Amino acid sequence: MIRSILKSLRNLILYPFKLILKLIISLFKRLKFSIAFKISTSYFFIYVIIIMIVAVTTSAGYLVFEFDKFKKETINQDIEKIINEFPNFYFEGNYLKINAFEIYDSNLNSVYPLNNQKRFSDNVIVIIEELIYNKEYIYSTSFNHENNEYFLNIAYNAESMINEAAIIAFIVLISGAIGILIFVPIVSKTSYKMIGPIKNMTEITKTITVNNINTRLNIKGTQDELKELSQTFNDMMDRIEDGYKTQQQFVSDASHELRTPIAVIKGYVNMLDRWGKNDKAILEESITAIKNETENMQDLIEKLLFIARSDKNILIFTKEEFKISTILNEIEKETKMIDSKHRLYFQFYDDVNIYADKNRIKQAIRILIDNAIKFTPIDEYIMVTGFIQDDYYVIKVEDTGIGIEKKDLEKIFDRLYRAEQSRSKEIGGHGLGLSIAKIIILGHKGKIKVKSTVGKGSEFSVMLSYIESLK
Ligand code: ADP
Repeated sequence: MIRSILKSLRNLILYPFKLILKLIISLFKRLKFSIAFKISTSYFFIYVIIIMIVAVTTSAGYLVFEFDKFKKETINQDIEKIINEFPNFYFEGNYLKINAFEIYDSNLNSVYPLNNQKRFSDNVIVIIEELIYNKEYIYSTSFNHENNEYFLNIAYNAESMINEAAIIAFIVLISGAIGILIFVPIVSKTSYKMIGPIKNMTEITKTITVNNINTRLNIKGTQDELKELSQTFNDMMDRIEDGYKTQQQFVSDASHELRTPIAVIKGYVNMLDRWGKNDKAILEESITAIKNETENMQDLIEKLLFIARSDKNILIFTKEEFKISTILNEIEKETKMIDSKHRLYFQFYDDVNIYADKNRIKQAIRILIDNAIKFTPIDEYIMVTGFIQDDYYVIKVEDTGIGIEKKDLEKIFDRLYRAEQSRSKEIGGHGLGLSIAKIIILGHKGKIKVKSTVGKGSEFSVMLSYIESLK
């Protein structure tokens, strides 16, 4: 009972604080303040709350201390006197601080004073009410007289004690208010100093464009979390810069690749313009060269467009279910038709149903076979095999050609990359075939691998998931 009363009393006291806090929070949410301002204001309110708590606890502490002293020095003696004098009292002048006292017998009948109108109680709420409204402290006890139990309530004048406690609270509040004058400038200065690096970061970030993409945030001297943020931002900028440079390199390499056929065409057109119009041999040579170069250019542009579409995520694979042997047999037939200079071996051990873009898969395998043809000397071997291995159908293209150096192995799938050997041998190609094959195979959640030894040959493997084996 007393507990629940105390609880509701506490809630009642805390209610205005909670209300103010809610109001402040909602105000903060609505208004756009700087973080430094928010930190300073939060600290300000925390400070005010602490000062209030200190004021309340010091005055309450003072009351408790004073009461303890009062009980030892006055109350105990008063009680002793009252009990000794009972039932006759010489009240006048004897009990200086007592406003009044009452005695009841065990049946709660009033014994002193006989015409009692005041009726005190030892209930906590009544005691607090008395303290607040009448500045009286009620002390209750019981005693025995001639084998009868009596209850004694004494009302003490607590005015001076309460006034002193109020003065203490007032002094604490005043010193707190003076403290604010020192506290506020220090806190706001510190918060602005703490937030300073963020402002700096914002300013620097605003200035970053493609022209100064290498600009980074200064991570020296900042706070720990901000340092981490700056570091993360710088790492992100590193990645963006790398990507941007790769893109730039790609554009410049692609332009370079286009420059050669255009220069050749321009050369032939100039030649025709000057003296080739009437020379049949020059005319024919020029037409053939221009035709070749335009085809070359068209091929290059189509490949570049394919890669650009893949970059933009707009590459669409038209997937269907088909037997892998259909495309492998077509490839075997076509290769045998166009290449009679190598020893070609085709062996497909297993057959499976796969769900894929038929033309694109065929294009990827063709790229590998075309490379094998390009980089393998005449009369050497080219072997294409197909078989099931674990969860994959593997298509292997092996050759006994020039091979690939170790340093080139990891780069041959990069766009426009061609190994030194193939460049120097002036074998055609733009270095886009393998990147396209990789895009196709990875786009089907497959794998593409390479093993190679310079002078001995290369082995490219494509691994594709299949639906069912058709053995
Ligand atoms: P390219 O159009 O130049 O063939 P690719 O992307 O298909 O472009 O190949 C990139 C490079 O990888 C080639 O220029 C070549 O140096 C190397 N390469 C690819 N396949 C083979 C192979 N079978 N034998 C030796 N080198 C190869």
